Amino acid sequence: MAFYSSAITENFDIGETLGVGSYGRVRMVREKHTGEIYALKILKKAEVISLKQHQHAIDELSIMRHIDNPLLISFRGDAYDSRYIYILMEFIQGGELSTWIKRLEYFSAEETRFYAGQVVLMFEYLHSKNIIYRDLKPENLLVDQDGYLKLVDFGFAKVCYDRTYTCCGSPEKRGHGKPVDWWTLGILMYEMHAGITPFFDFDPMIMYKKILNGKVSFPSKFDKKLKSLIKKLLTYDPTKRYGLTKSGELDIKSHNLFGEDWNWTDLEDRIMPAYIKLEFQSRDEISYFHQYPDSPEPAEEVPEKDDPFLIW
Ligand code: ATP
Ligand code: MG
Repeated sequence: MAFYSSAITENFDIGETLGVGSYGRVRMVREKHTGEIYALKILKKAEVISLKQHQHAIDELSIMRHIDNPLLISFRGDAYDSRYIYILMEFIQGGELSTWIKRLEYFSAEETRFYAGQVVLMFEYLHSKNIIYRDLKPENLLVDQDGYLKLVDFGFAKVCYDRTYTCCGSPEKRGHGKPVDWWTLGILMYEMHAGITPFFDFDPMIMYKKILNGKVSFPSKFDKKLKSLIKKLLTYDPTKRYGLTKSGELDIKSHNLFGEDWNWTDLEDRIMPAYIKLEFQSRDEISYFHQYPDSPEPAEEVPEKDDPFLIW
């Protein structure tokens, strides 16, 4: 790990990899002084720059600094050197929601509703701050010690000041604004309850066709109320999609899936009992994460003159 910045290695013991992404990895780290455990996202600068993703990384950091909500990952600091960008975050110990879906095969209607409700609150908060998330998937939802969700990975998120359908106001950008988040909630809800995504096919061409066709078929045992809301979210025309209609996310929050036996305030106050129960032997136990081989060599250095992060 000698190739990591001394600002990092002097203050933290570098631990196992928790996840790998397109531009780097996330590691568990322990602060030497306090013993506190954190997650450290380490992005390879040269790869971020060569794929013209530096604006995304800049947006990711500025969005992470501005969010403050128990359902969203909390940011603890950043650092830079010629090879890497480091993002320090709270460590969420229960692993990815995708692991739990695989483990349990599928979630019951009540479980699906419990986790979907949290995503509704996440998007309600983010959209109120004009942040569009754009990358909802079970790998980006982690399960915390209370069995509640935490949204991570703001690498694709964007601040959009257009209140309604588009990100930048131009029609060709349709689908990049708030509607895209509600669409992905429909996909996630389907996946949680069915154990498979709605348009899945081993052949990607057939999968794209199914998406464009926009017709979702549901297994016969699929819960009726879930199905009704999912259909409203997977509505092809974004102006008719739930979440974007006149009453905004209230349409979703007052759908009969969230009927008399449901209380949004209990969910917000985190007093609704969670379905996933977690037990840990220690704060650095990572049994709910996949195992990854270590990174063999230092990432390529970026010369100062080519480094957009220096100007920023
Ligand atoms: P991708 O390119 O796949 O979208 P990424 O490079 O943007 O990924 P993240 O999604 O932020 O990286 O993180 C990758 C994985 O690392 C997550 O799916 C999760 O398993 C793990 N991870 C990220 N943040 C944390 C955290 N704060 N605590 C625990 N694990 C985390
Ligand atoms: Mg991710």
